[in-house]
Amino acid sequence: MRVNILLACTECKRRNYSSQKNKKNTTGRLEIKKFCPWCNKHTEHRETK
Ligand SMILES: [Zn+2]
Repeated sequence: MRVNILLACTECKRRNYSSQKNKKNTTGRLEIKKFCPWCNKHTEHRETK
């Protein structure tokens, strides 16, 4: 079961990436370190709805 999610930078709160996650494998909120073009560095990105 796949659902679409958006990944938002935890520092500037901008939504930079869209992704999918598998609800069966992933419990809780997804957090990934990704490059944020607004912060111009790698930051934690968190799942938003
Ligand atoms: Zn940012």
